[in-house]
Order: sequence, then C-alpha cells, then structure tokens
Amino acid sequence: MGAVGVLALQGSFNEHIAALRRLGVKGVEIRKPEQLQSISSLIIPGGESTTMAKLAELHNLFPALREFVQMGKPVWGTCAGLIFLANKAVGQKEGGQELVGGLDCTVHRNYFGSQIQSFEAELLVPELASKEGGPETFRGVFIRAPAILKVGPEVEVLADYPIPSNKVLYLSSAVEIQEESAVPEKKVIVAVKQGKLLATAFHPELTADTRWHSYFLKMASALGGATSNAIVAVSEA
Ligand code: GLN
Repeated sequence: MGAVGVLALQGSFNEHIAALRRLGVKGVEIRKPEQLQSISSLIIPGGESTTMAKLAELHNLFPALREFVQMGKPVWGTCAGLIFLANKAVGQKEGGQELVGGLDCTVHRNYFGSQIQSFEAELLVPELASKEGGPETFRGVFIRAPAILKVGPEVEVLADYPIPSNKVLYLSSAVEIQEESAVPEKKVIVAVKQGKLLATAFHPELTADTRWHSYFLKMASALGGATSNAIVAVSEA
C-alpha cells in the first residue's frame, strides 16, 4: 500500500500537503520519476503550468506521470494540475507545453483572464454534499484560472460556472473571440471526474474547507489507493 503524493516542482504543493495534514494524512513530496513508485495516488497542484512542465521535463517526469495515469491510479489536478491532465490545452503560446493527458477534455489555460482577474465564487457541487455531507456549495478560488470547454463521454461534470459577463471570451483556441452578450446563457465546466481522475479549475488547497481533499482520498482509498492511515484519518475526520 502506498501513500498520497503531491507533485512538488512548483506552485501550491505545500498548501495541498497542509490540507492533507488537516485530515491526518501525510502527503509525500514528489520530484523524481522513481518516487512515483512509492505512492498510490497523486495530487498535481496549481501554479504556472508552463513552468511546471519545464521542470517536469527537466526531471524526466512525463513518461512516469503518464504511466501513473495509464495504470489507473487516482490523480487529482488543481488549476495548473488540471491543465497537466487534459488531453488538449488551448489558449497558450505557440508550441504550447507538454501535457500528461488522460483526461478527455479540452481546457483553456487562462480562460478567466490574468492575475488581476482572479476571483472567488460560490459553486454548486451536489457531489460534495452527497459524498461528504454538509452544504452543496463550495467557495472556489480562481487564480488566472483555466476552464474546461469540452468534455468526452466518460467525463462526469461536477461543477460549472456561468461565463463571466464582463470579460472578453476565448471560445476556442484563442482564435474566435466573442463578447459575452453573444452567449449570455452559457456555462463553462470547472470541476470534473473521469474514472480515477479528478480535476478542478480552482484551488481548494487555498481554503480551509477540506471537502475536496476528503473526496479525493475517498476516491483513492475506495480503489485501494490511499494508505490505511489515510482511510482511518478520513473516516475519523
Ligand atoms: N492558468 C495558469 C497556467 O496556465 C494556471 C493558474 C493556476 O494554477 N493558478 O498555468
């Protein structure tokens, strides 16, 4: 039985480890391909996905990360981590960046805009209420946030968000740019699950609410993924 790893190249890995700690679970920092063998589930944090991809390439992590996903091990990507897991990313500079892939979706890297357009919003997440107890809503922290524009048939949508009214929208590949008034009723997807893969466009690790971490640990332990300690800690939490 393995432990819960957190990819610790860049970004909010410390915050994920702290959130796991609040649930009584020790997160293991992962920086090298061989370290993936000692864990059975992985969190890829938020940060800056091109920088994280460069560091992952430098450490030769991509083949091992892809294998980890292909083996069906539980992986949760938050924000930049979501971009890593997507099969396709748009809205990036030419050449783009290397992706781990596995999650059948198209993600727009900076859909919600730049740093100053970061925001918080109350999201409706029925799955959290049913699985974790408590309210159906979750306060999402969106920082230079991506959004999921398209999902495949295997993907379950856990939360969506109305397309912002005051922003220029990048509807596909940053080619077609449209004002909001043209598509007032549309929503973009901000949280999904596909088998053992979980992805959120926002940062639960930057809030005091550990329901997403708890949800992921349950997902992982149901599959024999988390440590027995983790299972005990979560059921006691
Ligand atoms: N949009 C960012 C990127 O491309 C992700 C932002 C985040 O993780 N907070 O990497």
